[in-house]
Amino acid sequence: MLAITDSLTGIYNHGFLYECLCKEYARAERYKLPLSFLMLDIDYFKKINDVYGHPQGDTVLYKLSQIFKNNIRVCDTLGRYGGEEFSIILPEAKMEDSLNLAERIRKEVEQYNFGDVNKVIRCTISIGVSSYPGPGIKSLEDLISRADKSLYNAKAEGRNRVCII
Ligand code: GH3
Ligand code: MG
Ligand code: MG
Repeated sequence: MLAITDSLTGIYNHGFLYECLCKEYARAERYKLPLSFLMLDIDYFKKINDVYGHPQGDTVLYKLSQIFKNNIRVCDTLGRYGGEEFSIILPEAKMEDSLNLAERIRKEVEQYNFGDVNKVIRCTISIGVSSYPGPGIKSLEDLISRADKSLYNAKAEGRNRVCII
């Protein structure tokens, strides 16, 4: 059987996430429903690995996935998009609602101690948001690339922020 979850975090893997997004996009188009997509990327994660070691980096990835999971609803889908990138599919969520959720997650991560009482480990994330319907979004690829470009802007503008283009 083909795996649909990521072994480190237990959340959905890229393949399953993409399939889910295909279905949700088709559903949103067919029934004229909103749909939002979040791309979340850890800021300077390479540094966390370098300073604290790869196993600690893995712990950060796991704890982050738990924070994301605890902030979404059952009908939303969370997945590990790539190495230190995550995605969240938000069916029936308009732009404003998804921006609010992204900002809530960003703040919680900023305040979280990924280490312990003896060793405080901080990390921040950047989030790119895209929403359907929206200007220039005519396909699923448009929805993904806009979230990706938004994330790029969040990084370029200084990281630890939520962006939408
Ligand atoms: P930026 O703020 O621009 O996103 O910088 P960054 O350091 O987060 O990004 P970069 O792409 O330079 O580095 C990503 C790092 O993520 C490098 C790679 O070793 C690490 N990484 C990817 N997958 C895993 C994993 O499963 N475990 C651990 N510990 N590290 C991982
Ligand atoms: Mg990355
Ligand atoms: Mg990164």
